[in-house]
Amino acid sequence: MAEQTIIRKASHPRVAPNLGDYERECARFDWARAREQLSGLPGGKGLNIAYEAVDRHVAHGRGGHVALRCIGRDDRVRSVTFAELARRTNRFASVLRRLGVGAEERVFTLLGRCPELYTTVLGTLKNTGVVCPLFSAFGPGPVEQRLRLGDARVLVTTEALYRRKVAASRDRLPCLEHVLIVGRRDADLPGTLGYEEAMEAAPDEFTIAPTGPEQMALLHFTSGTTGTPKGAVHVHEAVVAHHATAGYALDLHPDDVYWCTADPGWVTGTSYGIIAPLTHGITVIVDEGDFDARRWYRILADEHVTVWYTAPTAVRMLMRATPREGPYDLPRSYDLSALRFIASVGEPLNPEAVLWGEEVLGLPIHDNWWQTETGSIMIANFAACDIRPGSMGRPLPGVEAAVLERGENGRAAVTDGRVTVIERPDTEGELALRPGWPSMFRGYLHDKVRYDACFAGRWYLTGDLVRRDADGWFWFVGRADDVIKSAGHLIGPFEVESALMEHPAVAEAGVIGKPDEVAGAIVKAFVSLKPGHEPSDALGRELLAFARRRLGPAVAPREIAFDQNLPRTRSGKVMRRLLRARELGLPEGDISALETVESAESGGVP
Ligand code: AMP
Repeated sequence: MAEQTIIRKASHPRVAPNLGDYERECARFDWARAREQLSGLPGGKGLNIAYEAVDRHVAHGRGGHVALRCIGRDDRVRSVTFAELARRTNRFASVLRRLGVGAEERVFTLLGRCPELYTTVLGTLKNTGVVCPLFSAFGPGPVEQRLRLGDARVLVTTEALYRRKVAASRDRLPCLEHVLIVGRRDADLPGTLGYEEAMEAAPDEFTIAPTGPEQMALLHFTSGTTGTPKGAVHVHEAVVAHHATAGYALDLHPDDVYWCTADPGWVTGTSYGIIAPLTHGITVIVDEGDFDARRWYRILADEHVTVWYTAPTAVRMLMRATPREGPYDLPRSYDLSALRFIASVGEPLNPEAVLWGEEVLGLPIHDNWWQTETGSIMIANFAACDIRPGSMGRPLPGVEAAVLERGENGRAAVTDGRVTVIERPDTEGELALRPGWPSMFRGYLHDKVRYDACFAGRWYLTGDLVRRDADGWFWFVGRADDVIKSAGHLIGPFEVESALMEHPAVAEAGVIGKPDEVAGAIVKAFVSLKPGHEPSDALGRELLAFARRRLGPAVAPREIAFDQNLPRTRSGKVMRRLLRARELGLPEGDISALETVESAESGGVP
C-alpha cells in the first residue's frame, strides 16, 4: 500500500538542511530565540514586517541582490533589487502618508501578480497600515463584501478590474476614499488617482514609525460554513514565524531562487510568496501568467529555481501533462538540475503525486499543512526527514499539535470547557494547536463571537480531521465542517448559496464540494425554484453564468442540479451533508447520522 512506502532521505544532500535532527531541534527551539534572527527596527523601535523583508538587507550590504524576478504575461522579465524595492516601498509609504492614511488603516489590493502588488503590500506595512490582498479572480460580489467588511480606505487596482468589479458598488463603500490605478488610466475615470503619478511625486526616503509587534499588519479573508467571510487579523510579530518556518519547512538558504506559485490574494501567496522569502534575503520569482505546464517547466529551468512551493492541484495538472509512465519528454527537455527542494500545501497531496515528483522531477514533494488562521506552516515534511507519502508530516519546532476526541456534531467534544486529547495512535479526531506561536491570528475582524468559538480547553480548534500515527506523523482525513477546498482555494458554501438566491428564479440553494480528480473538489449547487419557474438546461446555464458574474470563476459553481425537495433540518436549514451523501452515494447509516449532526448544529451556530 502506498501509505506504507517510506521515502528515505540521502545522508549527504547537496545543501546541508536547516533542520538536520528533528527531535533535537524541537527540544532546543524557542520563539524568543527565533525572534533574535530578525533585526527589529533601528533604535529598538519595535518590529515591522517590511523592515525585516526589505530594509535590513540593504542595511547589511545586500541591496544589490535581486529580490524579485517578475515574469510578465508577455515573458518580459524585470528584476528588482532589494535596494530598488526599498526605494519603491518608501515611495508608496509616502504616498499613503500624503493621502493622510495612517496606522492600522486598511489598504486593499486587487491586482494580478505584478511588481506593484509587492510594492503596495510592503509600502503599506512600512506606513504601519494593514494590507489586505484580494484575489483578482473574485467577482464583484466577493470583492464588495470584503472591502466593506474590512473597512477598506484605499484600494490599489487596475482600470479594467476597477471598472468590472468595483465601480458599480463604489457608492455603497463610503469608507473607500482612495482608489489608485496601476497602469493605463482614463482621465475621465472618476474617484481614482494614478498610481505611477503618485509614486513619481513621492520621495525615495521614508522613516518607518515605531511599530509595536502586536500592531495589526495583515488581514486575510477566509470562509466558514455559515455567515459572511471572516477577516483573520495578523500582527507584525507574525514575521518571526514566517521567517523561522520558511527556514525549517522550505529549507531556504541565502543563495536560493525561490518560486511560490500561490497568488498573494490567498494567505500562502502573502506569507510565503512575499514576506517569508524576502526576510531570508533571497530572490523570489513572480509569474504574472496562468498555469501552463510548458511555461512552468521553462520558468523552473530558465530561472534556475532551487526551491519551489506549489499546490497539489498544480502538481496534478503537471502530472496530467507529464504522466509517470510516459517518456517524461516535457521536464527532460528542460534543465531542472538547479531544483533541490519541492513543497506543497493547501489540500491533500496524494501519495501518487509525491512519488511522481521523485520519478519525473527527481525530487519527492514535501507536503505541509497550515491555514489562514495559523499564519504560517504548522506541520511539515522536512528536507532531512523521511517522507511517508500521503502524510502532512510532523509539527514544526515550537508548535504543539494534538488530536481531540469528537462529539456528536463532528467537531471536538467540549464538556464544561474541557476537551479530550486522543493518545491512541491512528484514531481520527479534530486537529488542535496549542496557542502561542507568533503568527497565530489575533481575531476575526469585528467578530469576537466567531473568534472565541475557535478555542476550547486551551487549544485552538482547526476544523480539520486528522489522525496521528504511532511515530508522530499526521495524516489528513477531511474537514469537520462544510467548507469546500477547490484547486486549493477555500470556499464558503454560504457565500455561493447567497449569490444564487439573488437570482429571481431561485427559492433556495445548497452547495457542496463534489470530488474532482484534479481540483480536489468542484463546487456543485442544488437549487429549488420559485413558483412559475421550470427546471431546464437553459435555466441551469443561466444560473451558472449568473453566479460566475457575481462570484468570479474561482468561487462560482461548476455544476448545478434542480431539486424541489432540498433536504432540510428541523429548523429549516438546507442539509448540505445529506446532499453530499446523496451525490456520493453514501449508505443510509451515514445519512441518518448526518441528520443528527445538522440538528445539533442548527442550535448553536448562527
Ligand atoms: P486556507 O485557510 O484557505 O489556507 O485553508 C486551510 C485549509 O486547507 C486547512 O484547514 C485544510 O482543510 C486545508 N489544507 C491545508 N493544507 C493541507 C494539507 N497539506 N493537506 C490537506 N489539507 C490541507
